[in-house]
Amino acid sequence: MAACIFCKIIKGDIPSMKLFESDKTLAFLDIMPLSKGHSLIIPKHHGAKLTDIPDDQLAEVLAVTKKIAAAVGAENYNILQNNGRLAHQEVDHVHFHMIPKPNESEGLGIGWPAT
Ligand code: IMP
Repeated sequence: MAACIFCKIIKGDIPSMKLFESDKTLAFLDIMPLSKGHSLIIPKHHGAKLTDIPDDQLAEVLAVTKKIAAAVGAENYNILQNNGRLAHQEVDHVHFHMIPKPNESEGLGIGWPAT
């Protein structure tokens, strides 16, 4: 979809810090991370709501989310999917947040890559 920011990232028209890509799925770092390694995992199929996305694409997105968590070294993390405006969805292209929960000693851990 031409106006969709995540479709533009998929096409490469907007730069992103890509972590994984397949024919169905893309994972990249969130531009405003809540913690170090905060990632977004999206189906390439455009759809605003979960119900718009074919089941096979959703299944791959979840499998990739698990792998991304391991790849960024997250042992404790939240997976978040905001579905609809009242649920605080801002970007109308389905996406899953993978938000690592750092140890207390690491604080928020904001900043990427790790230094
Ligand atoms: P939502 O509230 O679940 O829709 O979250 C949208 C997320 O997309 C937010 O965490 C934003 O920081 C993130 N975001 C928006 N634009 C970009 C971008 O261009 N690159 C990476 N992340 C983005």
